[in-house]
Amino acid sequence: MTLRPETTPAPQPGAIFTPPTTSSISNTPKPSALPDRTVTEPTTSKPEHPRDPPSFTQPKLRLEIRDLSHPGSAKFLSSIDTCTVFADAVHNVQRLLYRCPSDPHTNAPPTRSVTLVLRDMDGVAYTTGTDLDDDHKEIHFSLSYINNIQPARLTAEITGVLTHELVHCYQWNACNSCPGGLIEGIADWVRLCCDLSPPHWKRETGGDWDQGYQHTAYFLQYLETRFGEGTVRRINEKLRLHKYAAKAFWTELLGRPVEQLYGDYAGAGKGKGESQGGGGIADDATQTS
Ligand SMILES: [Zn+2]
Repeated sequence: MTLRPETTPAPQPGAIFTPPTTSSISNTPKPSALPDRTVTEPTTSKPEHPRDPPSFTQPKLRLEIRDLSHPGSAKFLSSIDTCTVFADAVHNVQRLLYRCPSDPHTNAPPTRSVTLVLRDMDGVAYTTGTDLDDDHKEIHFSLSYINNIQPARLTAEITGVLTHELVHCYQWNACNSCPGGLIEGIADWVRLCCDLSPPHWKRETGGDWDQGYQHTAYFLQYLETRFGEGTVRRINEKLRLHKYAAKAFWTELLGRPVEQLYGDYAGAGKGKGESQGGGGIADDATQTS
């Protein structure tokens, strides 16, 4: 039977990071918006390898395990090389959202540190800024959830959830005005691009474009294919610059309203045996926030 963790609905606009309401700690950091600050990428550095992004400032990565006696802790530690997986996930997020030279004008938030906190809590995972400085992020990941992952899926699922949450450490949100479904869709699009999609994900073309998570991620992948590599990076960059206004946002960026684009996407899926469902997020999905 598929795991059925507590799911977290796509957040409302302006509420990207929504920690569970049943937090087991008393000083849970406040959910916070992504920083509205601009960092100009270095212009003098040259990638050593085509796959490498230009010299992004690498954040300090920390790991905090709050209960080593929890069985999820042992599974986590035995499933991944934390140092490598964490750093690789950061690399992938920076590469996919800010890669140069095709997009020399994208600007990454000045995230200075990311602390992965493993603790017993409801749900799967969420990301917040810290009370002191929003440039410091915390990813809270449920030990109970990790403990219930099928053994064969442990490495991929942990890496996938970590990658999704790291996107929230680096993406823009149009000064808190971006639809939550687009925020979550971009996070799962990065996960999709890293070949970390769970088995239950499938491309669906029904429902609304901004249902979030993998539903929106596949739509973003369609846009990336149709309008060219870097389209999602341009979407993210536009979310840095302006408050979100649906008609202007999509028309200025891709020349037509998002409803039309989604209609094209749905039409392209017909005849390929794709599901036309998509009336809601699959209830067995491993949604994060
Ligand atoms: Zn999320």
